[in-house]
Amino acid sequence: MGYPFDLPELGYSYDALEPHIDARTMEIHHSKHHAGYTKKFNAALADHTDLHGRSAESLVAGWRSLPESIRGAVRNNGGGYVNHALFWDVMTPGGAGAPSGDLASAIDEAFGSLEKFKESFAGAAGGQFGSGWGWLVVTDGGGLEIVSTPNQDSPLSDGKTPILGVDVWEHAYYLHYQNRRPDYLSAFWNVVNWDKVAERFAAARG
Ligand code: MN
Repeated sequence: MGYPFDLPELGYSYDALEPHIDARTMEIHHSKHHAGYTKKFNAALADHTDLHGRSAESLVAGWRSLPESIRGAVRNNGGGYVNHALFWDVMTPGGAGAPSGDLASAIDEAFGSLEKFKESFAGAAGGQFGSGWGWLVVTDGGGLEIVSTPNQDSPLSDGKTPILGVDVWEHAYYLHYQNRRPDYLSAFWNVVNWDKVAERFAAARG
């Protein structure tokens, strides 16, 4: 899956995550914001045919080694492209209440309990100054870590594999929650697709 990159389908309707994430926000977020990152990511790569076979994840992970003229565009718009693709994928209407299996054990081991994990995750995402993301990532060593990133930076660029992410740009919640980022982050747990997070966890650990 290389250039040109397509805007991924959500896999559910814009109103499917109501009341936790409202339909209008989802529609603008997907059809305007994510579409915009996709278009600009493709535009940056158009003349760089040697890069057309590479995955979006590989380009974002290695943006520092790309030609200087497209580093910023790949970091920001490529980052926006892959970050949102993950975000849509790890949400689902009426998500499972909790992780199971290996992922559940790994969360308990790394953070003490699911509740403690949720607190730390919301703390990191809620505390990200300005626009950015909160992430649960798998490190090189196969362990779990919570990180936040500014703007559209991806943990991939730091050698970490994100398996759960939440967008804390105001465009992700402002219509419904206004400035109440903590309320949006609490509601997020109602739509997390833990099965997808578990799949990503298994894949990241190979
Ligand atoms: Mn966004």
